[in-house]
Amino acid sequence: MKLRVTVLGAGFGGLELSTLLSEALGDRLELTLIDQNDAFFFGFSKLDVLFGRKPADAVKIPYSTLLKPGLTFHRETVTAIDPVTRTVTTQCNRYEADVLVVALGADYDIAATPGLAEWGNEYYSFSGAEKLRDILPGFTKGHAVVGVCNAPFKCPPAPSEGALMLHDYLVSRGVRDACTITLVIPFGSPIPPSPDSSKALLKAFEERNIRFIPQRKVSSIRKLTSAAGTTKLAVLDDGTQLPCDLFLGIPQHVAPDVVLQSGLAENGWIPVDRTRLRTKYPNVYAIGDVTSVGTPKAGVFAEGAAKIAAASIIAAFNGSDDPAPYTGSGSCYIEFGKGTVARVDVDFFSGPKPVGIHYDASADLTRDKVNFGTSRKARWFGI
Ligand SMILES: Cc1cc2nc3c(=O)[nH]c(=O)nc-3n(C[C@H](O)[C@H](O)[C@H](O)COP(=O)(O)OP(=O)(O)OC[C@H]3O[C@@H](n4cnc5c(N)ncnc54)[C@H](O)[C@@H]3O)c2cc1C
Repeated sequence: MKLRVTVLGAGFGGLELSTLLSEALGDRLELTLIDQNDAFFFGFSKLDVLFGRKPADAVKIPYSTLLKPGLTFHRETVTAIDPVTRTVTTQCNRYEADVLVVALGADYDIAATPGLAEWGNEYYSFSGAEKLRDILPGFTKGHAVVGVCNAPFKCPPAPSEGALMLHDYLVSRGVRDACTITLVIPFGSPIPPSPDSSKALLKAFEERNIRFIPQRKVSSIRKLTSAAGTTKLAVLDDGTQLPCDLFLGIPQHVAPDVVLQSGLAENGWIPVDRTRLRTKYPNVYAIGDVTSVGTPKAGVFAEGAAKIAAASIIAAFNGSDDPAPYTGSGSCYIEFGKGTVARVDVDFFSGPKPVGIHYDASADLTRDKVNFGTSRKARWFGI
């Protein structure tokens, strides 16, 4: 008997889970993996594209290279999900499965922040990073604001990384002294579970003259025209107005519309049993950014959740014991600028509160991060 599994989303979580099921079940598996894109890219590669470190084509890994026993990839857009019958509809097909895994990630609601589309920019989507890459060379003086529009948002260190890398970029072009950089985030510190990572980041901001505004969100971007000329402002949720010639935004995140329409979501995200990643529907799992499991929205956590969900699916199929529960732990790399990378190892569920251990930025950790990417590429795509 074959196990029929449909996996929605070939991102961090979907790829890890599909790889594990293929490895464990091989020809006892009939896995359909669906994604609307033709290629995978790591979230952090958007920073590489934004600051011109790599061309867009160099960071994309085509799904056509996905060749695994028991797995078939379909480039299609999911248009409806029925979690009761585990039936999925795309623009051209209908799929039924014994087990359904939703790994559709988070989308962005640009319109939720008035003025963002007209007067600001974002670097969280691939197209947004490419657009900003082309705008950056024209920014030679004035005020830059890196700002979070709402929580939750992917990769909590990414706004800090954006500010530090912008500093390096402006230094390299000899215009840093003519520019200010302000970072606005909704937390009290840059990385709340790790006081040491936060301290290291705050020190780096101070050394680079980056103004840090904690516990605030950017609620709108405004453009004022007067006789004196045109001014752009980033308006914060307490009414503070920051001059803003260049806005590098982290837009409001939302679950994909097809998830919101499916009845799977509550309060915007899919609730799951935090030990095994099961939804309230039998044999329907949800992993990664699309859930409200209680870890940050980051690839390492999507991958960790995928491991547990895969082990649980395999155990049920083989009639063996359930795996150990999900601990919500993972290592996040933090770009500190000047080519160095730090790391924070965070554990969300083992203790009474999240704990993060900080490792200072070093060349070793820069190599570690490169390894992190190449090892996933090799595991998932065999290249
Ligand atoms: C600038 C930036 C830097 C980051 N840096 C890091 C980092 O250093 N470390 C880290 O761990 N994380 C990082 N992240 C976060 C990381 O990219 C995400 O958290 C991670 O990709 C989430 O994995 P996922 O599987 O839940 O969703 P995703 O990887 O987003 O995958 C979801 C997939 O679903 C597909 N999809 C969505 N809707 C549909 C539909 N209707 N039909 C078909 N397909 C659909 C999408 O095309 C996508 O491929 C970063 C993110 C950003 C933006």
